[in-house]
Amino acid sequence: MGPAELLRKSLLTLADSGRVRDIVERAPVSRSVVKRYVPGAYAADVVTAVADLGANGRAATIDYLGEYTTDVEQAEATTQAYLDLLRLLADEGLTSEGRAEVSVKLSAIGQSLPADGPAIALENARTICSAALAAGTTVTLDMEDHTTTDATLEALQALRADFSFVGVAIQAYLHRTEGDCRDLATDGSRVRLCKGAYAEPESVAYQDADDVAKSYVRCLKVLLAGPGYPMIATHDPRLVEIAAALTRHHGRPTDSYEFQMLYGVRPEEQRRIADRGNQMRVYVPYGEEWYGYLMRRMAERPANAFLFARSLISR
Ligand code: FAD
Repeated sequence: MGPAELLRKSLLTLADSGRVRDIVERAPVSRSVVKRYVPGAYAADVVTAVADLGANGRAATIDYLGEYTTDVEQAEATTQAYLDLLRLLADEGLTSEGRAEVSVKLSAIGQSLPADGPAIALENARTICSAALAAGTTVTLDMEDHTTTDATLEALQALRADFSFVGVAIQAYLHRTEGDCRDLATDGSRVRLCKGAYAEPESVAYQDADDVAKSYVRCLKVLLAGPGYPMIATHDPRLVEIAAALTRHHGRPTDSYEFQMLYGVRPEEQRRIADRGNQMRVYVPYGEEWYGYLMRRMAERPANAFLFARSLISR
């Protein structure tokens, strides 16, 4: 394992550490570092960010941060935050024409609770989907570590029976994902293909960056050959270029797929893709529980980790 890979693994391990999280969250971290990736703690901050993105042709998918839900009350509070957000977005006219939808982590709404976690998360997800339907928008389920993949895909199936607009994220680094793409590339499906952001063992995931990229291309080919709506989530310039060529090869009209990137990552590229007439959706997280999210972003780009560490030391 090279030094960059070692640093990536260490940061991903820290992303799961409750003790380190407590220390970092209490430190007066430079707001500018967090703010680059998380526009704010409140729904009102998101409304401003979504309106700014919309001003230059970018849509949004919004994630209420929180993935360490340890009790039913917290799961319900997170669900309520989504309901309030969806109402606010609709009131501000931001849910029309797919301008803003929501992304949900099942673990944040109860999936990992010891008793009946999956059932609780499914019930909360249904409540969020009903609110999204009323607001005239869609929901995408984020994908978390590999121990949750089956449960998330089962929840997707159950939700889609009543809410056909529900989409899901899948991770190219997992060996299983090409097969999952075949199952998911069906009429009306919305599938977000990303590389994957968790520290996964060799037994389930490709470890080498080139192998992950190759798997990404194979998965994308399956999705683009099918009748569904692929959501191409990557900042990798090579993959963006290959994706553009593949969409042309498959004769896909620009409204039959979209590109997605994270808030604060390669914003000029986001604008360039939107300007050339493609749909570009930006993943916008908000809330106070930014720790796990931010650590995964650091792992993707170690240069950011040094910037972040410096901001912790130089108060
Ligand atoms: P990389 O090889 O990591 O990056 C390519 C280039 O992009 C880098 O060289 C750099 O120039 C730039 N870049 C990448 N990351 C950063 C950064 N943090 N800061 C600055 N520049 C950067 N993962 C999941 O496991 N589950 C999900 O549900 C999920 N949802 C996602 C939704 C969206 C819209 C996106 C874009 C990503 C999502 N991810 C998710 C994260 C994803 O799995 C990757 O970890 C992440 O996108 C980095 O991979 P990459 O394809 O951008 O390629």
